[in-house]
Amino acid sequence: MPVTRFAPSPNGPLHLGHALSAVVSHDLAGPDGTFLLRIEDIDGDRSRADLATTFRADLAWLGLRWREVPAQSTRIAAYRAAADRLRGLGLLYSCACTRSEIAASATIIGAEGPVYPGTCRDRPPDPALPAAWRLDVPAALRITGPLTWHDALAGEQQARPQLLGDVVLVRKDPSTPASYHLAATLDDAADGVTLVTRGADLFAATHIHRLLQALLDLPVPRWHHHALLAEPDGRKLAKRRGSPALADLRLAGEDGRALARSLRDGRFPAGLHLTRSVGCYP
Ligand code: GLU
Repeated sequence: MPVTRFAPSPNGPLHLGHALSAVVSHDLAGPDGTFLLRIEDIDGDRSRADLATTFRADLAWLGLRWREVPAQSTRIAAYRAAADRLRGLGLLYSCACTRSEIAASATIIGAEGPVYPGTCRDRPPDPALPAAWRLDVPAALRITGPLTWHDALAGEQQARPQLLGDVVLVRKDPSTPASYHLAATLDDAADGVTLVTRGADLFAATHIHRLLQALLDLPVPRWHHHALLAEPDGRKLAKRRGSPALADLRLAGEDGRALARSLRDGRFPAGLHLTRSVGCYP
């Protein structure tokens, strides 16, 4: 039976794109599967505790039913243990580079912006500077060899973690020790997720997640990267561009179940349409 999940970050309100994502994930679990809710609240100051309550009210308003698993902020020990294991394999190196240094030194623009050029890979760390820990992707691939993964819409994929490069797995900020890549990969395994459903904008991230699964002996789920709702100008929907918050629609008395039905049927509010042309979706 499929186990799917919706994993919102409580950094801002849910909008119509999130509603689509939650409905897709809920429906793919089907009547016999399990649809999980996981609050991804390890973004330090950006995470707002009150928003998790709002998210639950939004999902109920859409007519969805779910089982909630522990929020990421309760799982820090597991993230630390996994990072220690990767460090023990010699696959993490510390990096004190700033964003602007990376932007200035990168020669490849990858799936998620400038690809870190590996500046600190062979450099002795400066203990005086706050440092993140990065995954040595070439060394990791030498251990795992070639890997594949399966997306329900795009088919069989060769894992190409090089598209993202040596990503950060442990952030500089000690209050948010794990990056999204490490935390989400560990959580999906711990939660028994069998079908990872999320937007096509996270397609490239899966190359890294597949590598982490191989390194950490985690089960390998299948993936379903759904098309995203886009604005009339083709850009991904975003609250900051005026997409209404679900909570506002709910409080204005709109019918959430009717909204969920229209998303299922592909009937979208004015000018919005589906797109897959995001990031490096094939
Ligand atoms: N927490 C992520 C977000 O809100 C979703 C991550 C995922 O689905 O893997 O964008």
